[in-house]
Amino acid sequence: MPSAKPDKLFDKILIANRGEIALRVQRACRELGVKTVVVHSEADRDAKYVRLADESVCIGPPPSSQSYLNIPAIIAAAEVTDAQAIHPGYGFLSENADFAEKVERSGFVFIGPRADTIRLMGDKVSAKAAMTKAGVPCVPGSEGALPDDPKEIVKIARVVGYPVIIKAAGGGGGRGMRVVHTEAALLSAVTLTRGEAASAFGNPTVYMEKFLTTPRHIEIQVLADEHKNAVWLGERDCSMQRRHQKILEEAPAPDIPARVLTRIGDRCAEACRKIGYRGAGTFEFLYQDDEFYFIEMNTRVQVEHPVTEATTGIDIVQQQIRIAAGQKLPFRQREITRRGHAIECRINAEDPFTFVPSPGRITSYHAPGGPGIRVDSHVYSNYVVPPYYDSMVGKVIAFGDTREQAIARMRIALSEMVVEGIRTNIPLHQELLIDDKFVRGGTSIHYLEERLAKRKS
Ligand code: ADP
Repeated sequence: MPSAKPDKLFDKILIANRGEIALRVQRACRELGVKTVVVHSEADRDAKYVRLADESVCIGPPPSSQSYLNIPAIIAAAEVTDAQAIHPGYGFLSENADFAEKVERSGFVFIGPRADTIRLMGDKVSAKAAMTKAGVPCVPGSEGALPDDPKEIVKIARVVGYPVIIKAAGGGGGRGMRVVHTEAALLSAVTLTRGEAASAFGNPTVYMEKFLTTPRHIEIQVLADEHKNAVWLGERDCSMQRRHQKILEEAPAPDIPARVLTRIGDRCAEACRKIGYRGAGTFEFLYQDDEFYFIEMNTRVQVEHPVTEATTGIDIVQQQIRIAAGQKLPFRQREITRRGHAIECRINAEDPFTFVPSPGRITSYHAPGGPGIRVDSHVYSNYVVPPYYDSMVGKVIAFGDTREQAIARMRIALSEMVVEGIRTNIPLHQELLIDDKFVRGGTSIHYLEERLAKRKS
């Protein structure tokens, strides 16, 4: 059984994920002297990180519904291997409150927040209500879920003011959102989004927000322990998005006044204390005209966590594990300092022009290196990218004393990187890294889509 003693970490952790994050968590465990169990589907049987783990358990066939989302199989794997805690990574079951609850009821530690916190934040309507109460500013919009009465919906939209965005309370991954520019289009958009939300997320609840026209996506990384300590580790700028999905992230965010950031960061840490948050988490905001507007909280480690690690020197995954073991945060807010600039490029197995996924065998692979370069990837020459999962095959993170240096190092890194046999989005990143507006910094969340539209014409 997991020890509650603050100085004792776990003997063995089960990693309920795949790909680069399974490898990332495994590295953190090994550094902490914790043994690892990796669960995997039949499609990932031969992955190197599976073989590197102390133990591995095949939990089902390739489709994630039968493997990485199979709760009984994962818990059974923890039982037979005597693991004490389960790290969910990101995606899959990482924000599934029922999973967190079942893990803890089965006597294991869930490396993440309590199930009720995940539930509260997983519903964007209840999350916004909780944040408003905790003093975190939110995007103006409907007060809670939209009612059924069409007349009421029309009234709410008039008060919010067009354009508005209709969003699913249970939405995630950039899906379940619809922008509405005129009253004529409003009610059909609400009906459509409700239908999609019901089928995609099993919850037809939708709400309305003012659609911000030139915001940036700025998010705050937090860490909180069970002893009411909470800190924020600075912000990340994740405005470079396609279809509401991030592709390039950086820290710090260019040109945001320090006092504005400190105010919002302190509010996030305070909100963690108020809701009794535990673990690593991210408050996502839209930022426009010097104002921050909360959109959602992610109750897990994020893909882009390395840019924060690079600029703070704090290993976020190790902290997640320490917090789950009941340890106190080893630093206070004033001890957290940031240095330099970091950029992350997500490398996806997809066509850089059509964005069609490109799974298959990587015939030749060479990872870049040199000063300030970190590559988090599970792939290698001859690795077969399975068609069943997310197309991300790795991340390149470049760190420099200045943003200019980080960009320069990233350009060099991507020029050295070889991924043959499949198509990747490396050429798209290379285009962005020499784009005037990106180089200047501070582009809005719509910039990439606008640029891609121009590329087409
Ligand atoms: P998800 O959980 O699917 O990621 P979010 O609520 O975090 O959904 O929103 C994802 C992205 O959608 C944001 O980063 C932003 O690009 C866009 N978006 C969401 N809400 C708004 C809004 N009110 N105005 C403009 N863009 C928005």
